Amino acid sequence: IQDSLIQSRKMQALGELTGGIAHEFNNILTPILGYIQILKNNIDDPILNRYIELIEESAKDGAKIVKRIQEFSKPKHKEKELCDINRIIIQSVEITKPKWTYESQISKKSIEVKLDLKAKGFVEGTATELREVFVNIISNAIDAMPNGGFLHIESFNKKGNIVIKIKDTGVGMTEEVKEKIFEPFFTTKNERGNGLGLSIVYSIIKEMSGHIDVSSQVNEGTEFEIKLPAKGAGLSKEYLNEGFEEKQIYKIL
Ligand code: ADP
Repeated sequence: IQDSLIQSRKMQALGELTGGIAHEFNNILTPILGYIQILKNNIDDPILNRYIELIEESAKDGAKIVKRIQEFSKPKHKEKELCDINRIIIQSVEITKPKWTYESQISKKSIEVKLDLKAKGFVEGTATELREVFVNIISNAIDAMPNGGFLHIESFNKKGNIVIKIKDTGVGMTEEVKEKIFEPFFTTKNERGNGLGLSIVYSIIKEMSGHIDVSSQVNEGTEFEIKLPAKGAGLSKEYLNEGFEEKQIYKIL
């Protein structure tokens, strides 16, 4: 409980910080974009006009980034819905497919993805956020397997919960790394990572009254286990066989 309290305070502080920066940045961009309009209307020199356009494009890019930051830091209004967890896992695998097929091509080693999706029932949350959870975890697993390996995703029911296990045969983590992975900005990937993925995953799962655990062995692999309260078990039957197989193997050679 203490840990999750610290974690949610950190995320809140992070939101306030980024929100504050975004606000300041907007104040800077407003006069830049405003005066560019006046310059554009009053300068005839084509070369100078091209420069002004370049400044405007860059300032607009800046404004777009600010908007993204504000969206991230704003407390989001979320419509909760009953989500079919198996379907969301399949979608997340599809979303990350370009990444693992690409990694497979460059390393010439295969990443094999196996799905054992037996969970029945739904979880309450937003599908977009749940996809974010699995996309982040799967992407990390692929990053952890530069020489290829297995990714095994399971879902099943246990005592009123839906349990999802995501297991890779990657590089694994030391105890020190394992303790910090859910902290915002903690990354071992230098400029390739921003360290936000798992902190976002953690907040989403907590908000859904769920749990997330990780076990890992250096050079053996890592397993994430997520537990979410199951809802509407009676509704799931017809859904399960619709559109996808319960058990599916993706193999890239
Ligand atoms: P990022 O991926 O940008 O580094 P994350 O918050 O998603 O940020 O992950 C934080 C760190 O946790 C990673 O840099 C990595 O060291 C570690 N990690 C996460 N998933 C795995 C995994 N499946 N295997 C090994 N290490 C992992």
